[in-house]
Amino acid sequence: ALPDIAFIGLGHMGGPMAANLVKAGYRVTGFDLVPEALDQARAAGIGIAGSGPDAVREADLVISMLPAGRHVLDAYQGKDRSDGGEPVEGLLAAARPGTLFIDCSTIAVEDARSMHEITTAAGHRSLDVPVSGGTVGAEAGTLAMMVGGSAEDYAEALPVLEVVGRRVVHCGEAGAGQAAKVCNNMILGVSMIAVSEAFVLGEKLGLSNEALFDVASNATGQCWALTTNCPVPGPVPTSPANRDFMPGFSGALMAKDLGLARHAIESTGTQSRMGLLAEEIYAAFGKGEGATKDFSAIIQQIRDHSDAV
Ligand code: NAD
Repeated sequence: ALPDIAFIGLGHMGGPMAANLVKAGYRVTGFDLVPEALDQARAAGIGIAGSGPDAVREADLVISMLPAGRHVLDAYQGKDRSDGGEPVEGLLAAARPGTLFIDCSTIAVEDARSMHEITTAAGHRSLDVPVSGGTVGAEAGTLAMMVGGSAEDYAEALPVLEVVGRRVVHCGEAGAGQAAKVCNNMILGVSMIAVSEAFVLGEKLGLSNEALFDVASNATGQCWALTTNCPVPGPVPTSPANRDFMPGFSGALMAKDLGLARHAIESTGTQSRMGLLAEEIYAAFGKGEGATKDFSAIIQQIRDHSDAV
């Protein structure tokens, strides 16, 4: 029989992921703090529990898709409240012994390791499985999934992960999924800036965007930022640049992921000057235009800040 799944966090990513599990025949019980998310989930056939702990009580497998590390750790642990406040039951305390917890949120590597530690200490098992592919990938069930945890837990989770994603990679032990995600997105942030600077430089040199694309996409400048998410309209009709940079992957989310990269760079003492610079550039952009636009709209800022010639 298929495992019963609890799904905690039914937002932009979690909602469609949970809906795909229902379509594949799984019984899914979910919870979110936002009533609109619950209404959409109910319409997609997800059973709605009164709380996170209530959702996980009878589950064989728990998937969480929450905003950031503190949400994951708080939800898993609950709160004892020595200050006399109302105690909050944690997901770990509510689950049956040996439950497999799969956290798909994007969080710091060290938070993921803490998540594994508290999960194991509570008598459960866990995997960190951050995803890439955005809301489009979540809806289509084509997310790339990067897994950290034991080989046995990975094998058990794989059939479920293959429903919400494609390209599932077991990256190593606890935290390895988040490590892969932060490194990949650092490549993406740096390469989008590089591609955008090259297009603006080409424009200033009198080169057409089409010519630069035709050369670089078949030469050594080839990369995803150029050939899939091209920051100028025209060469790649499906890229956000063709629809006024409607995301896609927002500048704010890139800023979040590069913030995690900065944290990882600093805590490991890695020399990553481009990574830190990309973080600085996207941190500012994510608070302004990038809050609502695709991260490739960074090209507009580069163009605007260039001198007129
Ligand atoms: P979101 O804000 O739309 O969804 C998160 C949901 O978690 C919200 O609906 C919120 O109400 C809920 N939540 C918070 N605390 C909760 C709790 N204690 N119990 C139950 N629900 C709770 O965010 P999202 O875009 O779905 O992203 C989720 C995660 O996926 C983030 O870590 C993000 O960085 C990552 N991610 C997002 C994208 C993307 O394109 N949106 C792509 C890859 C990865």
